[in-house]
Amino acid sequence: MRIADRIGRLGTETAFAVGAEAAEFAARGNRVFPFHLGDLNIPSPNTVVEATIRAIRDGKTGYCPNAGIPELREAIAADVNSTHGTAYQASNVVAQPGGKPTIGKFLAAVMNPGDEVLYPNPGYPIYESQIEYLGGTAVPYGYVETEENFDLDFAAIERGLSEKTRVLIINDLHNPSGAELSPDQRGRLAQLVRDHDLYVLCDEAYFDIRYEGRSTSFVEEKGMAERTVLLYTFSKRFAMTGWRLGASVGPTEIVDVIAKLNVNDESCANHFIQYGAIAGLQHGHAEVQEMLEILRARRDVAAAGLKSIDGVRCVVPHATFYLFPNVTEVMQRKGLTDYESFRRAALEATGVSFTTRLHFGRATPGESNKYIRFAYSGIGTADIEEALGLFKRWCES
Ligand code: PLP
Repeated sequence: MRIADRIGRLGTETAFAVGAEAAEFAARGNRVFPFHLGDLNIPSPNTVVEATIRAIRDGKTGYCPNAGIPELREAIAADVNSTHGTAYQASNVVAQPGGKPTIGKFLAAVMNPGDEVLYPNPGYPIYESQIEYLGGTAVPYGYVETEENFDLDFAAIERGLSEKTRVLIINDLHNPSGAELSPDQRGRLAQLVRDHDLYVLCDEAYFDIRYEGRSTSFVEEKGMAERTVLLYTFSKRFAMTGWRLGASVGPTEIVDVIAKLNVNDESCANHFIQYGAIAGLQHGHAEVQEMLEILRARRDVAAAGLKSIDGVRCVVPHATFYLFPNVTEVMQRKGLTDYESFRRAALEATGVSFTTRLHFGRATPGESNKYIRFAYSGIGTADIEEALGLFKRWCES
């Protein structure tokens, strides 16, 4: 079998492999506490389910326009405008089967082979995978832990810039750390984007998974809506990860190219789900709010549990459903200084299954702090409490 060379450059999401390992551990009769995957064990809103079933019954089961049904494109534009201070129209929106496809399609639209792309590392692994698959050069930048947040490493971004830099990828609010750009950082980034004439992919998968305050988008910065594509998704906000619906939102010139890629890739996003999504946007607010309350309670229990462990430091983000505790001291104390040994030993001893920094990109040279990621979206508060009690005992032993 001869597989094409480009496949050698394609990465993957290794968090799924951790899930498989946890399932195998459970099949051996063990109890697993699943913190590894950013999926939800909360049902999708009834409003969405009912409207989708109605749409199926109404025969919305054929192909639909490649860019999505006009009503959905309009509803998404209105939704984004209501929180982003923008003036998008339906023509600025192209529906996608999830948020993820925006990454590769956006890069295919604006990045030539040999171009350099700045991307967050640690970060969602598909950025690096798609940059390299499409022949670009992935240039990482990181975050610096502070008392209250993870701060964008501006110096790393500036160091990473070159004549060849064409695209900046930002993920605000950030998986895995929950990092959030400050107004000052947004302003500085926008200046840098203008100075270097860059395109921006702004991944806002967690924009609405927020417990305190208000999310502010990078596209509110002057001139940024003209050169930015937003990754928009129903997955997290409406607990619809398996439905596969999202959108790319941005300048029509890029959106039109992405729609052409839709024609080539999947023809259109699932037709009848688009009606469910509109119902969710228009009438699903109370159910979304209920889900956020559940997630907030989980965050508080998980953060308290992690913070109580001797040798663990844990920033508590206002958004996302992840915690990214610093476990450097615990790993040293236990003599488990490589990530995989630590993760596997914790799973074997306690059933607590989590991902580590390495599931979000290669460690950068000189990186000495160690982090693991707890996703609390797929596990209830009682189980979180029990799991972190076991994990604490193990870490401190
Ligand atoms: N972007 C980030 C940062 C994510 O964490 C995820 C999923 O975990 C996605 C994009 C893609 O999600 P989806 O394709 O389900 O919308």
